[in-house]
Amino acid sequence: MSAPTDAQRMEKIVSLCKRRGFIFQSSEIYGGLNGAWDYGPLGVELKRNLKNYWWRVMVHERDDVVGMDGAILTHPAVLKASGHVEGFSDPMVDCRLTGKRFRADQIPQQSGTIFRYEFAREAAPTDRALEALAHLAETDAEPKFNKTRIASSDALDLAKRIVERRKLSVSLPNADPEAIELFFSHLGDLLRQHPRSQWEEEFASAYSVPQRTICKDAFSVLVRPGESESKAKKTARAFYQKRGLKLPVVVFLPPADEVKKTQEFNPENGAELTSPRPFNLMFKTNVGATEDDSSVAYLRPETAQSIFVQFKNILEVSRKKLPFGIAQIGKAFRNEINPRNFTFRSREFEQMELEYFCRPEQGMELLEYWKEERLKFYENIGISRSKLYVLTVPNQERAFYSKGTYDIEYEFPFGRQELEGVAYRTDYDLSQHQKASGKSLEYFDEETKQKFIPHVVEPSAGVDRTVLALICEAYAEDEAPDEKGKMETRIVLRFHPRIAPIKCAVFPLLKNKEPLVAKAKEIVDLLRPHVYVFYDESGAIGRRYRRQDEIGTPFGVTVDFETLGEKDAALRDTVTLRERDSMKQDRIAIKDLPSILISRIR
Ligand code: ATP
Repeated sequence: MSAPTDAQRMEKIVSLCKRRGFIFQSSEIYGGLNGAWDYGPLGVELKRNLKNYWWRVMVHERDDVVGMDGAILTHPAVLKASGHVEGFSDPMVDCRLTGKRFRADQIPQQSGTIFRYEFAREAAPTDRALEALAHLAETDAEPKFNKTRIASSDALDLAKRIVERRKLSVSLPNADPEAIELFFSHLGDLLRQHPRSQWEEEFASAYSVPQRTICKDAFSVLVRPGESESKAKKTARAFYQKRGLKLPVVVFLPPADEVKKTQEFNPENGAELTSPRPFNLMFKTNVGATEDDSSVAYLRPETAQSIFVQFKNILEVSRKKLPFGIAQIGKAFRNEINPRNFTFRSREFEQMELEYFCRPEQGMELLEYWKEERLKFYENIGISRSKLYVLTVPNQERAFYSKGTYDIEYEFPFGRQELEGVAYRTDYDLSQHQKASGKSLEYFDEETKQKFIPHVVEPSAGVDRTVLALICEAYAEDEAPDEKGKMETRIVLRFHPRIAPIKCAVFPLLKNKEPLVAKAKEIVDLLRPHVYVFYDESGAIGRRYRRQDEIGTPFGVTVDFETLGEKDAALRDTVTLRERDSMKQDRIAIKDLPSILISRIR
């Protein structure tokens, strides 16, 4: 079987996530809310396991870190001081044809030929010209027209009658606005030459260029290599139609220029984009009953700020000495211009952040330390080191206050992308809040008797992005025998047991054998206080294994006739323990199951 391409792989992952209840689109039955996702029964387990493990290694297993859980609704003064109100924006561009919004820095560089259009004019007859056409098309033998209700789509039918009846030498046009314009202009000239009433002159002057609508907006289109020139005209026509022209005759402004590496056109349709404008990514809301400037609050765009704002309180109550950290896991909200790549870029997501406060001279060393710690973390949840990259963020791309930033990236099927940022933020955040609040956020060093604002190193990870990386890393297709021993494709999520949603499945070999079922249920009760188990008695045992493989359950316990001691008394109260990846089965005493599973899962 050939390996699926990355796009196919991603498609399979997204469909598995929905099929097995990891991740659903939010508000799906109403058409979905873009950029928001709901985690189903398995997704929530996976997410919790990840957060719990992060909390365990970042807080519980250390003496120098304490936790907090701050509010999501944030006072505007906090985000003014942090720079978010002024500066938390992305440059945004809109497609001038469809209105679709993109982040300017994410537009791919494109090459091709630019066709510029100066303006467009209407080729459909004006209301007055239509009325004249109706008069000219009317005969005593045919019913009279209601002149006020003639649609422009009737114009060609009326014109055809006139041409046929008067035997005019003008050929009928195709659907192109240019051909239609030429036809009506010519018809006007011919009618004007042989007037039978005032309507011939009336039509010719009502159809003259100055009487027709003109849209003066200029517009350009990029035609990429391999695409035809007529595509530019079609796109331009659609642009002027959106601006109200029914049959736009587009006016080309030569020359057509060759360009390389432009980011000024919509990569999906070649239409021109607007120039970039800053777009603040924060969700604004009002607190209380009044909706004015005095009641504005924001949904936090990161969890970090409440840590800085509570620094003094936490320092006092925890009685920690530098260096020490404050950790938080929680929701953050950003009105991303282009949510995409499944959950990778969402508008509502969770962060796991640590602010590790230190003396200024420790900053650079701790930056290295935390980068290494965080890499170890990802390896410990089953993400292979070979799929992780450390990007040293170059000086010009770093926040001005940061003395060093690393991005930890993962090789997703859709490309290498950031999982976590590890940044040395100096004393910027605490200094800003001290200045803005007028409250001291200094640390008093009892040994040196010095007072100073601590510096901070911040490892900031995304829960949802890591969950997605875990699923992408775990997804595999291999071969396993079916009921009759024939090899078939098996979908398996090779989660590290530590983060797998369900740790162990328990199966009675047959569901209609009461002693097997009773024993299996006893085992469930034995394991439940220690690990999350799942009992399944329906279907052939092979099918039951396969269902668990597909959701990444690392262990399967089967109760068979040996367990009941029917074949060999020495095997009484033993079960088979199947391992998901190797599919190997070992016979284990039931009483040993809890300790064996705990030691392999922790
Ligand atoms: P990006 O450049 O991808 O927008 P960022 O550098 O702005 O990310 P940070 O502000 O450093 O991100 O946030 C820390 C972490 O929070 C990121 O590494 C990521 O894991 C997570 N995160 C940020 N924005 C989003 C989002 N829109 N959806 C999901 N996770 C996000």
